[in-house]
Amino acid sequence: MIPQPLQDLIKRLSRLPGLGPRSAQRAVLHLISNPMEMADLDKSIQTVMGAVVTCSTCGNVGLETPCHICTASNRDGTTLCVVEGVDDLWALEKSGEFKGHYHVLGGVISAIDGVGPEDLNIPGLIRRVEDGEFKEIILALGASVDGQTTCHLIARKLKPLGVSVTSLAKGMPVGSDVDYLDGGTLALALQGRREF
Ligand code: ZN
Repeated sequence: MIPQPLQDLIKRLSRLPGLGPRSAQRAVLHLISNPMEMADLDKSIQTVMGAVVTCSTCGNVGLETPCHICTASNRDGTTLCVVEGVDDLWALEKSGEFKGHYHVLGGVISAIDGVGPEDLNIPGLIRRVEDGEFKEIILALGASVDGQTTCHLIARKLKPLGVSVTSLAKGMPVGSDVDYLDGGTLALALQGRREF
């Protein structure tokens, strides 16, 4: 009943995080009745595809690599904050609470999702700690079991390198993702961090 090209578009959209088949269908029908919006969306996607790169140092997403955070001269070069994803990095930046550098792992260890240590950018992290002037590594990985398992593994690898390894305050809601916390809660969790 639904023409094939529309079915294809709905199917593609429904694979995006946070969108199921129903909301994908609603989005497509909305775009069809708003052709200007569809054209703008198309233009935006083309622009992003051509311009956006992943920072080879920290894993942030932006318009240049190394990114503006990695090259900033006014940031604290002694603290490195390890996050699961770019959304967490952006949430921390938005809170304005953290002035050091970041490292995006690209996930956390998860038996259910089949994510092992080899799937994460841990070698890059170790290299940065070995080569850099970092004194404190903050593990901001969320309060889930997977997040904490990943914290333990990383702490075990980093401590022999002579750096202090800390994690966010225990006040973080259990099971919560870093990027779901509001700026104030994130600031408190960061201020209350302790040696891991
Ligand atoms: Zn960067």
